[in-house]
Amino acid sequence: MRFDTKAIHGGGQEPDPQTGSVNVPVYFTSTYAQSAPGVTKGYEYSRTGNPTRAVLEKTLADLEGGVGGLAFASGLGALGTLLWSLKSGTKVLSGDDLYGGTRRLFEHARKTWGLAPEYADFRDLDGLKRTLERERPRLVYFETPTNPLLTVLDIHGISELAHAVGASVVVDNTFATPYLQRPLELGADIVLHSTTKYLGGHSDVVGGALVFRSPETYEEAKWLQNAAGAVPGPMDCYLVLRGIHSLGARMRVHTENALTIARALENHPKVRRVLYPGLPSHPQHALAARQMKGPGGMLSVELTGGMDEARAFLKKLRYFYLGESLGGVESLIEAPALMTHQSIPKEDREARGITDTLLRLSVGIEDREDLVEDVLRALEG
Ligand SMILES: *Cc1c(COP(=O)(O)O)cnc(C)c1O
Repeated sequence: MRFDTKAIHGGGQEPDPQTGSVNVPVYFTSTYAQSAPGVTKGYEYSRTGNPTRAVLEKTLADLEGGVGGLAFASGLGALGTLLWSLKSGTKVLSGDDLYGGTRRLFEHARKTWGLAPEYADFRDLDGLKRTLERERPRLVYFETPTNPLLTVLDIHGISELAHAVGASVVVDNTFATPYLQRPLELGADIVLHSTTKYLGGHSDVVGGALVFRSPETYEEAKWLQNAAGAVPGPMDCYLVLRGIHSLGARMRVHTENALTIARALENHPKVRRVLYPGLPSHPQHALAARQMKGPGGMLSVELTGGMDEARAFLKKLRYFYLGESLGGVESLIEAPALMTHQSIPKEDREARGITDTLLRLSVGIEDREDLVEDVLRALEG
């Protein structure tokens, strides 16, 4: 079965044997009647398991090529559950361009559990090798492409280096989705998702997921999923699964639209730089072409001028709503320095290239010409 077929028929998705319903029923139940104490049909309580969730979890595992998947109430719920599996004092080496909430949770775990997270630039594999040999972390964690700089990191290369020192590798695959990139096939051990984004795809649900390469790690995390309890409800599972059905089709349009906008903006006099892995000018263009099926729907642009020009531009856009989050059918834009990355001190932000006029676009699946016209019109001023 190929990817687009798997998204619809994988994970045991079949017409309901009783009614023929082509969609998995939404099982609104917290508990399950037992025929005798301890005799169940496989379900006993919906924190532990729910049939709607089970289909979503199997589908996620199928799409990422893992042995098992687990669904959570949010991306951070998935990360939190993963952190429960780490002992006090565990060293975590993480990429330094990271979703803000991920860093916040790592830092909280440092204070409360004595977790020891460190951050490094994972673009530099030689430097990373030295850091890994010196620090000997138990876990290596990163996102690719990163947010908001769209840096592409070498999943295969980093996984080999991490495994050489006995570390497990977790990749946040939220920006790419399994349609564009499958980290487990490239050597990672665990994939994390905020299903709130492209997998759900319609900005109508918050969710998260973990997918595993090894059965033992999967079983351990499944135990923790039940023990910690950050599970999604059946309706949320259904919405994510419905989004997944059109994932490939949506990602193709997101990618085409983003590429068109990136090209239209690249040489515009009011644009200082465009960060998009699909442009030959992107520093990891070749790596992205090797590692990903396409460059995806996220891009960042830095405008010339200052904060006032950026604010004026944002105000003039018609189809790009100003908002956090990403990956929905509608186009969104945000100013990381003022919104998602505001908590990073200004000097740190600027040192990393997150300037006041850097804007992050989540390019939707509206008509491509409308989107390009919208952006160009707003730049006219
Ligand atoms: C949104 C996001 C998260 C957090 O997910 P939630 O569903 O909001 O909890 C984690 N990683 C990335 C890359 C994200 O974009």
